[in-house]
Amino acid sequence: MKNKSALITGSTSGIGLAIAHCFAGQGMNIGLHGLLPEEEGKALANEFEEQYQCKAAFSNADLRNVDEIKSLVQEANGALNGIDILVNNAGIQHTSPVEEFPLDKWNDIIAINLSAAFHASQHVLPLMRANKWGRIINIASVHGLVASKLKAGYVTAKHGLVGLTKVIALENAECGITCNAICPGWVDTPLIARQIEQIAENENIEWDAARYNLLTEKQPMPEMTTTENLSQLALFLCSDAAKTMTGASIPLDGGWTAQ
Ligand code: NAD
Repeated sequence: MKNKSALITGSTSGIGLAIAHCFAGQGMNIGLHGLLPEEEGKALANEFEEQYQCKAAFSNADLRNVDEIKSLVQEANGALNGIDILVNNAGIQHTSPVEEFPLDKWNDIIAINLSAAFHASQHVLPLMRANKWGRIINIASVHGLVASKLKAGYVTAKHGLVGLTKVIALENAECGITCNAICPGWVDTPLIARQIEQIAENENIEWDAARYNLLTEKQPMPEMTTTENLSQLALFLCSDAAKTMTGASIPLDGGWTAQ
């Protein structure tokens, strides 16, 4: 993996940041990305360069904007001397019933959680084809495989992302490029904080109890997946051992989708 370059969307926080640390620890150059002010993002990239002796770039492209996605890929490609690995990770959540689902939330979720992966892949694939090697890893969700109430935008986008993963895998099966989706259950990151808060408010219970209730409502194993667990799976997907694994959607979900 040494000297491979990875662009990881949404890598200023949570799962994406953990994948960035994991990949940089293997000697990869890292394209960091997320909604941080420019100065903070550049400081983060400097930290990576010092800690891992790698190249690191930062962009705060808003994934709702198609032109900014194109610039994100072009800038990362220039700064890192190529893009070998693309991790489409950025995502947001909003919960409400279908009939009350705000239009702006629906549009943002579809744009960030689904369309951005399409646009970024579209720009990255010619680079990977030229190298006859590439890895696209889509961070989907159990909600790419099964549904939950109140998550129309998220479930729709993640099911779409699982479908997109299969199409990219098929179209590039003879090009040395694999495309897979990781489908996590609960992972302790800022993304789920609002859902825990809502349970704590509604049930008038402490944060830890609300977190436990959220976790065990659907997931048989009463343990969250750590961002480090997930990073190791992403790293495996980049390895030679996984070279024939493509078009797969891999649950990492404590048995959620086994039911
Ligand atoms: P997080 O909130 O910690 O990180 C989200 C990242 O996306 C941040 O870097 C943020 O800046 C970026 N982002 C958000 N909106 C953006 C926009 N408009 N433009 C550019 N970047 C934007 O969340 P996380 O839990 O680390 O989630 C990462 C991925 O994992 C998401 O796709 C999420 O759906 C998926 N996932 C998370 C869980 C979980 O339990 N946390 C479970 C399954 C799947």
